[in-house]
Amino acid sequence: MIDMDENDISFFKDGLRLDGRRTDQLRPIKIEVGVLARADGSCYIEMGGNKVIAAVYGPREVHPRHLQEVTRAIVRYRYNMASFSVEERKRPGPDRRSYELSKVSREALEPVILTSYFPRSVIDVFVEVLQADAGTRTAGINAAAVALVDAGIPMKSMISACAAGKVADTIVLDPMKEEDNFGQADLPIAMTPNGDITLLQMDGNLSPDEFHMAVEMAMKGARDIYEIQRRALVEKYSQLEAPTVEVKACE
Ligand code: UDP
Repeated sequence: MIDMDENDISFFKDGLRLDGRRTDQLRPIKIEVGVLARADGSCYIEMGGNKVIAAVYGPREVHPRHLQEVTRAIVRYRYNMASFSVEERKRPGPDRRSYELSKVSREALEPVILTSYFPRSVIDVFVEVLQADAGTRTAGINAAAVALVDAGIPMKSMISACAAGKVADTIVLDPMKEEDNFGQADLPIAMTPNGDITLLQMDGNLSPDEFHMAVEMAMKGARDIYEIQRRALVEKYSQLEAPTVEVKACE
């Protein structure tokens, strides 16, 4: 969050946000499943100005081997922001922010992955941010969840992620960059379709009432995103023809 007086920016015009959205409206979302030939599962997502790709590899052998767990698969998640994805060129390579985002995103997905099915193996998730406009961690988690399904990884449920924020003393859904950078708070969540929360972070200040309102709003957003994820997967897999099985009569 940039230390700047939020009064310097007018966040609303005629009751609508800078990009014309209502306070409780998501940015447009586009999801494409199975975009990378060499990955076991992949997904490309656009959430407003965010363009993110997720690739899943595995379950596969763990390297280095000392990381392997006898009773379950380990999950690795690497969030990476391309240097060209932001206005001011980002220095390439991992930094404190990408380590944090990788950790919380892994923790958002791991509870639904049936890791005990694949002892001594690893499920690798790579998330590449090609264009950033606030909300890249939630976009990454949404893409990664779809890519995990595309890879055929057994999961207890889907995970959908969305943020709410506070700008000019108003709670808004899915903040874009100006709202995130100059707003008063940002609250990203991830959850299952049943509403079990696997990620909840908060940056800035919210009163208890505002906090509850922001969580409710983000959960509603996540539910809507779940529908879009589900539809993208159904669309991809309903296009595939069922394998034809030839059964020969016994002679
Ligand atoms: N950002 C940037 N340069 C950076 C990191 C972030 O311009 O090195 C921008 C980018 O648009 C990002 C936004 O700031 O989406 C908000 O970043 P934050 O750390 O809150 O994570 P996010 O909202 O993307 O999950």
